[in-house]
Amino acid sequence: MADDNDTVIAPGNIRVRGIRSAVLTGDFIARIERMFQRMAGRGSSPIAFDAGREMGLRLVTEGLEASLDEAGSFLSETNVGTLTVVSLDTGHKGGILRVEDSFFAVSFLEHAGESQRPVCDYLRGLFAGVFEGHYHERFLCLERRCAARGESACEFSIYPSHPV
Ligand SMILES: [Zn+2]
Repeated sequence: MADDNDTVIAPGNIRVRGIRSAVLTGDFIARIERMFQRMAGRGSSPIAFDAGREMGLRLVTEGLEASLDEAGSFLSETNVGTLTVVSLDTGHKGGILRVEDSFFAVSFLEHAGESQRPVCDYLRGLFAGVFEGHYHERFLCLERRCAARGESACEFSIYPSHPV
């Protein structure tokens, strides 16, 4: 029996963690990102970051590692990418995460060519949201490698907005 918060992916009924969803093609995502980059230079970063953060907060469960497992499941089930936790530094409340085959990066590369800047702002927000939900303080997330720039995978550094 499907729960209200389940992910259901069936023709005519797509819900992601209870949120009604639709399939967007990669060329559409790339077009939006390219338009934002032309208009504002920074791409879609503030909007996408905020949307990712909201989803990250929803994925938080008991414990940081379990919450990151949940984030990994979410990214796999929605075909957005494959998450690997490279390292966690619980002392400094930070971590390094890697995403292979990011939908945002691969779509940009395929439909708009190599990007000058990282494009996975939704993922930056999502990871910041998971850490925020766990530690109850705001986090920043830097995408220091991005497949849209021709690098092999996307890599993210997460750290508190106000480091201790
Ligand atoms: Zn990326």
